[in-house]
Amino acid sequence: TRIGFAIVGLGRLSLDQILPAIRQCKYAKVSALVSGDPDKARRVALQYGVKPDSLYSYERYDELAQNPDVQVIYIVLPNAMHADFTVRGARAGKHILCEKPMATSVADCERMIEACRRADRKLMIAYRSQYEPVDRAVVKMVREKKLGDLCEFIAGNSQNTGDPTQWRLNLKLAGGGAMPDIGTYCLNASRFLSGEEPNEVLATVTQDRSDPRFREVESAVHFILRFPSGLTATCMSSYASHESRFYRLQGSKGWVEANPAFAYEGLHLRHGVRMDDRNVTIEPTFPALNQFAREIDHMALCVARNQTPHTPGEEGLQDQKITEAIYQSARTGRAVKLSPPPGPTRGP
Ligand code: NAD
Repeated sequence: TRIGFAIVGLGRLSLDQILPAIRQCKYAKVSALVSGDPDKARRVALQYGVKPDSLYSYERYDELAQNPDVQVIYIVLPNAMHADFTVRGARAGKHILCEKPMATSVADCERMIEACRRADRKLMIAYRSQYEPVDRAVVKMVREKKLGDLCEFIAGNSQNTGDPTQWRLNLKLAGGGAMPDIGTYCLNASRFLSGEEPNEVLATVTQDRSDPRFREVESAVHFILRFPSGLTATCMSSYASHESRFYRLQGSKGWVEANPAFAYEGLHLRHGVRMDDRNVTIEPTFPALNQFAREIDHMALCVARNQTPHTPGEEGLQDQKITEAIYQSARTGRAVKLSPPPGPTRGP
């Protein structure tokens, strides 16, 4: 028997990625939809075999409590709405899978963790890259010391954003510009690929307010993280340059480079290493496995087996703390010290 998911918000990510991916899942199914548009909800329900009595408006969201077919609520709404919908969902007795970025403030992240803890429900943040086979392979290489000691991580995630009226450019709904939306991928990768937590950040943001897109939020962010081992991460993210996504992790004995990185599919890895007294570049290949299906199946299995998700609320909270430090550093022009998280931020 599959675990039933309610999908909240039928925007681009839900329609183009999440719903098609659930078709490929082994342990998950769509049992309910929550949408502000009843016609769209009916159309999508027909397409994915969701019962007509399992369609909800945002106003009727709390009635999910009475739907026994729903075990997990997957929140795919604008960033600032994640916190309230998570807290209410946990109160309705459901486990929560929430899109990245977890929320728009540390206080909201803490509120979400506390609500799920009190209700004894699981909380997972949808860091899809952590379920991507290519990134998993890099984590394994790092653990097995294939790169030697880690020295530098360099990453970029950019896209040239269009419509100035979209919620992503609204400070209240998005929590920031390029940083929370796409810079988060660089930040999170620096942490999960290295397995380390940064203790200092220095950052700067760019915002051309004469561009109608950037009246409220930054167009670009640059940040440098220092890690206790000596590893540094140099990251940049822009909403104003052509689509570009990559990372490179350099160690004393080798490097790996993903280009593209952070994409839904088609990631390409190169590995530079010394072999037989020569520097060689290897291009390992991986089976194309859908990240979203793997991520959603992971949540379903955690619920079925009563296990902590690999990317629980604590993982999102840590990124949000660093994001706030990034903005603080940009405002003050000074490096900001970071304290280590109080406990592990990732599950098994
Ligand atoms: P979207 O704009 O396409 O969809 C958002 C949905 O929320 C729409 O259906 C909209 O009607 C609904 N909504 C409800 N209340 C709203 C309000 N007050 N203002 C605006 N919209 C409202 O956005 P999206 O690209 O689907 O992103 C949704 C979430 O998913 C975001 O948190 C985003 O960061 C995340 N996301 C994650 C990935 C990923 O790869 N993991 C990719 C894209 C988006």
